[in-house]
Amino acid sequence: MIIQEYVDIKDYSTLRVGGQFRYFIVIDSLENLNSLYAIAQSELRFKNIPIFVLGGGSNIVFSDGILNFIVLKIEIKGFEIIYESDKYIDIKIGAGENWDEIVEKTIQMNLSGFESLSAIPGTVGAGPVQNIGAYGSEVKDTLVEVEVYDIKNNTISTISNEDCKFGYRDSIFKNEAKGKYVITFVTYRLKKELKNIDILPVFKYPGVMKYFEEKNIQNPTLQEVRTAIINIRKDKLPNPKEIPNVGSFFKNPIVSNEIVNKIKIEFPNSNFFYIDENHTKVPAGWLIENAGLKGKYFGNISVYDKNALILVNNGNATKEDILNAKSEIIKMVNEKFEIVLEQEPEMI
Ligand SMILES: Cc1cc2nc3c(=O)[nH]c(=O)nc-3n(C[C@H](O)[C@H](O)[C@H](O)COP(=O)(O)OP(=O)(O)OC[C@H]3O[C@@H](n4cnc5c(N)ncnc54)[C@H](O)[C@@H]3O)c2cc1C
Repeated sequence: MIIQEYVDIKDYSTLRVGGQFRYFIVIDSLENLNSLYAIAQSELRFKNIPIFVLGGGSNIVFSDGILNFIVLKIEIKGFEIIYESDKYIDIKIGAGENWDEIVEKTIQMNLSGFESLSAIPGTVGAGPVQNIGAYGSEVKDTLVEVEVYDIKNNTISTISNEDCKFGYRDSIFKNEAKGKYVITFVTYRLKKELKNIDILPVFKYPGVMKYFEEKNIQNPTLQEVRTAIINIRKDKLPNPKEIPNVGSFFKNPIVSNEIVNKIKIEFPNSNFFYIDENHTKVPAGWLIENAGLKGKYFGNISVYDKNALILVNNGNATKEDILNAKSEIIKMVNEKFEIVLEQEPEMI
C-alpha cells in the first residue's frame, strides 16, 4: 500500500476542477483497509485528518487548493455468483469495479436488471450512495445488500436494502452514515429469464419508444435496450473525457400541482411526470432552459448547449466559477418559476 502526497485532483475528477489531495491511497483489498487502520492509529501525521472515499470522481465538485484529507481511491475488484435459482442470480461485486463494464457483463450473461442503467460513469461502490438511476430504474430495485467497512471501528458488516433507506438520488450513505463507511462489495439480484421484456419501465419513455420505432425493432433484446440507452445518452450527455462535467447538476424537483398549473399558463404544451394527485416531477433541465440559461457562460463554466441540466468546464474552471453558476441558475429559475433547485453532486 503506497501513501502518495499532494496528488492532483483534476486527474480524479470528471469535471477536472480542484487542487491537490494531501494524502492519497489506492485501496484494492480489505487487507489494505486493515493496514491503513493500523497506520492511522500509530502515525502522528494522520491524527485528526479525515478520510474521504473516492470512486471515479464523476459526482463530486472538489475545491481548489490543498484538501487536507486521506483520500481512499477504491479499487476493490470482484464478481462472484453467490446464489442461483431457476429465476434469478445473486452476484457480489467489488466496489472498485467499473459500473458500466459490469452492466455489459451481466447483459452478456442474459441477466436483466441493469440494462436501463447503461453508460452511467463511475464505480459499483458509488452506486448505492446516491441510488443511481435512469429511465425509470434505480439500483435499489435490484440491490440485495451492501458490505461496508466501518472506518472508525475497523469492522466489516452488511446493510440490507431496506436499511440503506433509498430515496430519489438518496440513501443512508448521504445522510446519517455519511463518512462512516467504505462500501467494499455490493450484492445484486438479477433476473435470469425476462419473458415479457416490454414490462421494463424504460418503455414508458417516449425517446426510447421513438428509437425502437425508427429502427423498426419490435421485441428488443436486453442488448438492444442497452444499445438504445447508450445511443440516446450519447446525444444528450457530453462525454466527460472530451467535455469535463459531472452529469446532471441539479435534481429534478417534485413540486405542487399549484406551481405546475401556473407554469402551464405560459407553457400549455409542457409535459411533466405525474407523481401523485398533488405532486409533479418537473425536469430541472427544462426549467433551466426555459429560464433562458441554455448555453450561458459563468466564467469558465457554462450551461451545456445541448442539455441545460449539465454544467461543463470549458478549461481551467474553479470551484468559485461553479458556485457562481449554481447560485445564478438557482436564483433565475426561482424568479421565473418559484421553484428552488437542489444540486445533485457532492461539493468538497
Ligand atoms: C456524463 C455523466 C452522466 C451521469 N449520468 C447519471 C445518471 O444517469 N444517473 C445517476 O444517478 N448518476 C449519473 N451520473 C453521476 C455519477 O455517474 C454517479 O453518481 C456515479 O455513481 C458516481 O460514481 P463514482 O465512482 O464516480 O463516485 P464518486 O464521484 O467518486 O463519489 C460519489 C460519492 O460516493 C462516495 N463513494 C464513492 N465510492 C464509495 C465507496 N466505495 N464507499 C463509500 N462511499 C463511496 C463518495 O465519497 C462520494 O460521496 C452521471 C455523471 C456523468 C459525468
